[in-house]
Amino acid sequence: MNLSSSALEILKARYLRPNETPEDMFRRVAKAVSLAELYYSSPSIAEEWEEKFYKVMVNLEFLPNSPTLMNAGTELGQLAACFVLPVEDSIEGIFDTVSLMAKIQKTGGGTGFSFSNLRPKGDKVKSTNGVASGPVSFMRVFDCVTDSIKQGGKRRGANMGVLSVYHPDIEEFITCKRDKRSFLNFNISVACSDEFFEKVERDENLDLINPRDGKVWRKVKAKDLLRLIAESAWDCGDPGILYIDEINRHNPTPSLGRIEATNPCGEVPLLPYEECNLGSINLSRVIKDGKVDWEKLSYLVEVGIRFLDNVIDVNVYPDWRIEKMAKGNRKIGLGIMGWAEFLIRLGIPYDSERALLMAEKVMSFINKKAFETSVKLARERGSFPNVDKSIYRGKPIRNATRTSIAPTGTISMIAGTTPSIEPLFAVAYEKKVLDNKKVVYVEPLFMEYAKNLSEAEIEKILEEGTVKNIDNLPEEVRRIFVTALEIPPEWHIKMQAAFQKYVDNAVSKTINLPEDITVEEIEKIFIMGFKEKLKGITVFRQGSKQGVIEFGVKKK
Ligand code: ADP
Repeated sequence: MNLSSSALEILKARYLRPNETPEDMFRRVAKAVSLAELYYSSPSIAEEWEEKFYKVMVNLEFLPNSPTLMNAGTELGQLAACFVLPVEDSIEGIFDTVSLMAKIQKTGGGTGFSFSNLRPKGDKVKSTNGVASGPVSFMRVFDCVTDSIKQGGKRRGANMGVLSVYHPDIEEFITCKRDKRSFLNFNISVACSDEFFEKVERDENLDLINPRDGKVWRKVKAKDLLRLIAESAWDCGDPGILYIDEINRHNPTPSLGRIEATNPCGEVPLLPYEECNLGSINLSRVIKDGKVDWEKLSYLVEVGIRFLDNVIDVNVYPDWRIEKMAKGNRKIGLGIMGWAEFLIRLGIPYDSERALLMAEKVMSFINKKAFETSVKLARERGSFPNVDKSIYRGKPIRNATRTSIAPTGTISMIAGTTPSIEPLFAVAYEKKVLDNKKVVYVEPLFMEYAKNLSEAEIEKILEEGTVKNIDNLPEEVRRIFVTALEIPPEWHIKMQAAFQKYVDNAVSKTINLPEDITVEEIEKIFIMGFKEKLKGITVFRQGSKQGVIEFGVKKK
């Protein structure tokens, strides 16, 4: 197999079983996932699919999310990356969920929660005659448990905490990560309604409501809340926003409940006890002779959807309620990685109209094919059991959702391509490795051009992290190697919106911001996300978090 040395390192450290080679790992996964075929057809069909699943993985054309690679065909057997659990307004309910969270994190799954149903700080507690401590204080319990679980697991746990913008404790929630020490195992998001944005526009007050009795607790200026969200996001990257009404306009099973939360990175809005397994097509492998290989893409979607549908049947569930929801709705999330590499190979700059058009073309193609495959599977295997409680009532379809764009943080490294739909981060940078030694990393796609540059020019690229000032490079080359921070925030949003149009679930994307951006500009970005019909937004201002690779080494 043609794996990079860093891919091999990651696999060895966290994915391979004792004495397993990467090929063995893909064989183990292909075999385990193809066993689902036995429920519906014959052993020979199962073998055929095992071979197809194996090939697309070993060619690094399609990879499932990490838990599937780690756990398929093993005793653990938990294969999904994304969960949402309920948080009820009772001690029993809260701790039942904490324990289930621990169980899920042990297997590498990420968990999301809405804390919006918890009564606010200072409210009555009838049974003890005391006062309630509020959602943020209970979130701390979740955070601490995640801290201890990560020591035993293969990856540190990840959580999403959501609070409704109407909750009386909303200000405390918005600012809870600003000390940069608390809630390190949480991403947080404010669930913002359409009404909230309308009130911001009209400069009106918003009623904050106690979820326990539905009574107005106090009023606050909607504008002040948006300002506070933007200030915190400027400062520490959190919170993000969930455009919660847009999410629910696309809820495929509204009669089963309103969606209040997503998984940790935001790409899958889910009902309580729902989970979703993900897989991603490596677009950098879908180019032939400088053109998009649509036939291959079509094939990969077909194989990918079948793979993910099979996962639901062979999965070992951490809880019967999760099993019931997963098998009832059969949600899956097929997405992509390698988008930036794909564009570079086609010679299209990321921040261009051409790139937006290509995004729509590729994603609408995938979405349509995914839908068709799910209909085909329904004819073979039956529709998802809740279909008549869904927006697809009376139609054959196997999966309540089919597409989703995940961050592909690790699997894109295994596949040796750029993550998800993100642009290049830097063309070259220095990275500290063991013993504080510095290693120069040059984007592999740029190597071909780097060969013809002088040492001084390479030095300049290292310093600035960009090739835009290298006069020796043709203008087209400078344009296609554009990096995340050179791309104006609006273009990051436009790209996310172009993909979101054709994705059933959501799109995980970071809106990179320059260090000197203002709070007002971040407010505008949040409003733009609402107008562009995103389901969620996360910003990251350069320099606002430690431990992230810096753009341009001299800046450090
Ligand atoms: P991968 O590349 O490892 O398959 P992604 O970066 O695409 O994973 O993340 C997909 C989802 O997996 C996330 O949204 C989250 O739900 C879950 N996840 C990612 N990293 C972690 C982690 N360290 N712990 C728990 N869950 C995680």
